[in-house]
Amino acid sequence: IQPLLKVRGLVKHFSVRGGAGKRRVVRAVDGIDFEVRKGETLGVVGESGCGKSTTARLLMQLIKHDAGELIFDAATVGGQQLPLREFRRQVQMVFQDSYSSLNPRMTIEQSVAFGPRVHGVGKRESMARARSLLDRVGLDPQRFGGRYPHELSGGQRQRVNIARALALEPRLVILDEAVSALDKSVEAQVLNLLDDLKRSMALTYVFISHDLHVVRYVSDRILVMYLGEVIEIGPAEALFERSAHPYTVALLGSMPSLDPDQRTEAPPLVGDPPSPIDPPSGCRFHTRCPYAEPLCAEQKPPFAELDEGHRAACWMVVPGSQHSQAAKAQCV
Ligand code: SF4
Ligand code: MG
Repeated sequence: IQPLLKVRGLVKHFSVRGGAGKRRVVRAVDGIDFEVRKGETLGVVGESGCGKSTTARLLMQLIKHDAGELIFDAATVGGQQLPLREFRRQVQMVFQDSYSSLNPRMTIEQSVAFGPRVHGVGKRESMARARSLLDRVGLDPQRFGGRYPHELSGGQRQRVNIARALALEPRLVILDEAVSALDKSVEAQVLNLLDDLKRSMALTYVFISHDLHVVRYVSDRILVMYLGEVIEIGPAEALFERSAHPYTVALLGSMPSLDPDQRTEAPPLVGDPPSPIDPPSGCRFHTRCPYAEPLCAEQKPPFAELDEGHRAACWMVVPGSQHSQAAKAQCV
């Protein structure tokens, strides 16, 4: 099957002011490759500062990449077959802060109708579409349509943001910590809503969250990022049950387990990630990895396939590698 979105060698560096008036380069996203399959939910995890949100903004082309390319449904994004404006209609995003993404001076009905209006849909049809979407996300348009954002709860506002994201009939929706600010009970309702919408509207999701329990619950596949790179990707179950990269093992091991018998013996994740300015050489995790060997600092590990669609970038799982743990790790 043709993936919906292919990400090929995507790079985004930012220039920031460092000490002594020098400009320094933040390597926020540093050459990432992955695919988003039609109809799936791809979870994206990693500590804060690993490049998750920059990746989200690149996928939506809110910011332009420095190198690499995006291929959406077999067409190069920004190329002749798929101009940026058309791509932007097909990919929409829901952010964490439900309040700041809505215009406080517009009624929610106007907010939802705004996208279609900008894209040339007539006023009457835009409003009709907005009302039907509000209904779809569980907000009675008669009761809520004329209200302003401050008159709604956080959960209701996030429903409005979801309606707004769907108003242009996108195919891919990027959810960047979209339920993170909600109470647990409201979060569960919004997750159920997202699941219903995905099925009924044939959507594909990229679901970014720091909450690993939620990611495990919603994702078909999961991608793990560390310091601007993808270090492991695979089916959600394989990733949780057979994590291969020591960073993934430590990250998942840090999850407060609901079942005490299920706790892993994983070495805990110590310290903070190094700065994405001058990231460590070779494997970027070597400064925190309990299994690091000289090889790890010298050479960047390639991806090795562990089982169907499950890949990790660590010398311990690269067949024939010189890492002393390599043979052991591959027997597990
Ligand atoms: Fe650790 Fe080396 Fe594997 Fe990196 S390549 S995760 S430093 S063992
Ligand atoms: Mg973020």
